[in-house]
Amino acid sequence: MYKFGSRSLNNLKGVHPNMVRLMNESIKDSPYDFTITEGLRTAKRQNELYQQGRAKPGIKVTSLDGYNKKSNHQAKSDAYGYAVDLYPYINGSVRVEYERYKKETNAIAEHILSTAKRLGIKVECGGYWKSPFDPPHFELKK
Ligand SMILES: [Zn+2]
Repeated sequence: MYKFGSRSLNNLKGVHPNMVRLMNESIKDSPYDFTITEGLRTAKRQNELYQQGRAKPGIKVTSLDGYNKKSNHQAKSDAYGYAVDLYPYINGSVRVEYERYKKETNAIAEHILSTAKRLGIKVECGGYWKSPFDPPHFELKK
């Protein structure tokens, strides 16, 4: 039985109610605890991520610049963000290293997708994509 902390709750602000409902249901009986690290993003924030691996050091994390190409994390016409990013929370830390926490990450994703099915909410996980392969990412489908 898990419960969101303030970081996750904050990151659910401005996220579409169906996604909020899915997350609130999923955390209760998730096989592992998880933390929502991002929800609604501004164009500025999206562009900062886009600059990573381009104008700024680091590896490329997105092909969406936030202005010409928008992310599902940015507000749609209904003002809600349609995506969240989340990671396992194990032994007191958010575990962003996918290779090391593959088992937990995948178990959480399977659990969220089956919860979505039960609730009749259409959602995709980036961990099931080839490119970009994005395991922490979940987004609503219309
Ligand atoms: Zn994402």
